[in-house]
Amino acid sequence: MDMKKYLVPFSGLALAACGNNVREMPNVIYVFPDQFRNQSLAFWNEDGYSGNVKWTADPVHTPNLDRFADESAVLSRAFSTCPLSSPYRGMFLTGMYPERSGVTLNCMALRPESTLNPDAVCISDVFAANGYSCGYIGKLHAETPMKNDPANPGHYVSDRNPEWDAYTPPERRHGFSYWYSYGTYDVHKDPHYWDTDGVRHDPEEYSVRHETDKAIEFLRNENGERKKDAPFFLALAYNPPHSPYESLDDCMEEDYDLYRDMTYEELYVRENADTTLSKAPSARYYFANVTGVDREFGRLLDELERLGLEKNTIVVFTSDHGETMCSQGTLDPKNSIYTESFNVPFMIRYPRKIRHRVDSTMLSTTDIMPTMLALAGLEDKIPHTAEGRNLAPVFLENGKECDIPDAVLYIRNLDGKKDKDGIVHGIFPEARGVKTGRYTMEIAIDRDMNIKRVLIFDDWNDPYQMTNIPYRENPELFAGLCAELREKLEEANDIWYREGIMDSLGL
Ligand code: CA
Repeated sequence: MDMKKYLVPFSGLALAACGNNVREMPNVIYVFPDQFRNQSLAFWNEDGYSGNVKWTADPVHTPNLDRFADESAVLSRAFSTCPLSSPYRGMFLTGMYPERSGVTLNCMALRPESTLNPDAVCISDVFAANGYSCGYIGKLHAETPMKNDPANPGHYVSDRNPEWDAYTPPERRHGFSYWYSYGTYDVHKDPHYWDTDGVRHDPEEYSVRHETDKAIEFLRNENGERKKDAPFFLALAYNPPHSPYESLDDCMEEDYDLYRDMTYEELYVRENADTTLSKAPSARYYFANVTGVDREFGRLLDELERLGLEKNTIVVFTSDHGETMCSQGTLDPKNSIYTESFNVPFMIRYPRKIRHRVDSTMLSTTDIMPTMLALAGLEDKIPHTAEGRNLAPVFLENGKECDIPDAVLYIRNLDGKKDKDGIVHGIFPEARGVKTGRYTMEIAIDRDMNIKRVLIFDDWNDPYQMTNIPYRENPELFAGLCAELREKLEEANDIWYREGIMDSLGL
């Protein structure tokens, strides 16, 4: 695909001879709150959107995201391939599946093997090598905690046992020259960060507001946050609406007030929700944080417009995974193939080149890195290590000349063996699954390598996944889905493929 044909005429004239001249290249802002499910976007109930999904959106207030969607290409079927914090981040950064990115499990001190491969080529490495100024703000959670507290060398950053939070030193920042980040820490109104120089900050305010202020500083660039005449890549990783979601300590009261008086019947619109679960009161706080993210995201967009940057800036809004919130009878918000956990928001706004539309192309997490690089004009710089697809044509020209996936892979890993010190070695690949145009299927195994459970849902006729289609009684359907899964496992060079697990299960 010839990217040059999209250049605006005035810059094309002076810069045509320069190849990838930095002044032609778009800025990129990638915003990904944690645990924000696709169903928590109000616009899905509106004309122009509701026909693209078979479920009802949550009763949330997301006016800024609704407006943003009207200006964006919106995917109804973006999936978090391994819907868990750290594996997602490893995949987003590298375009590789967890076994190659290095991040196979949620990072914490007892899982030292699960950590971003320091030699992996990350999206930010590529942007930086091509003239971009790269900034990271918010939650990273892609590295094992190390005893490298800048203020207390030889120690973890806190005395939590085991440690989850982490400091990332400059040599492990993968091209990000502006840094304002932490590993993982879930106190929404008392967050902390380490800056570019390793200095810790404890701002004691709502993290989403604080991080948006830092992002606005990065945009304004009044203090040399980035190179003046270079394009920028900014990753903004909010923690809310991630748990905790139990009290006014966890969200802004002005946002909670929108949901305070709603009954469970009003809050829980999904037929598969069980409001007798202990978690039921959380919906009000979860939705309050959805609205808090919406408001701050809107403030970021306003500043982008005020600075005259919006036309040549690609802005993505997505999330690392969803949130079950009392659906499917589980208290676990994520790490499952249920649509509330697996399906994430994905919207791209790029006024110069992308027109508004709603698209049902299935996106996997590994596709994000190559797609983003190609949208920025760096298609020929996509590293050979990236394992996902470049889906930029889907956004630029309705998918012409593009290998559109007919199914996506699902991965769930659990801890491998633990040694006497409780250190985890390897992974137990508990479940693999596939989502096709119509069906969702997951096969879970026990540690003796027997089938533990098979889930099959008909997402056309049963969008809330209420009825598990028995696999033994539907051998043709099951065989077809197993064939799809095998294809995806091979494409991903997954451990289930390499170790012949489908064969050993007799599938
Ligand atoms: Ca997460």
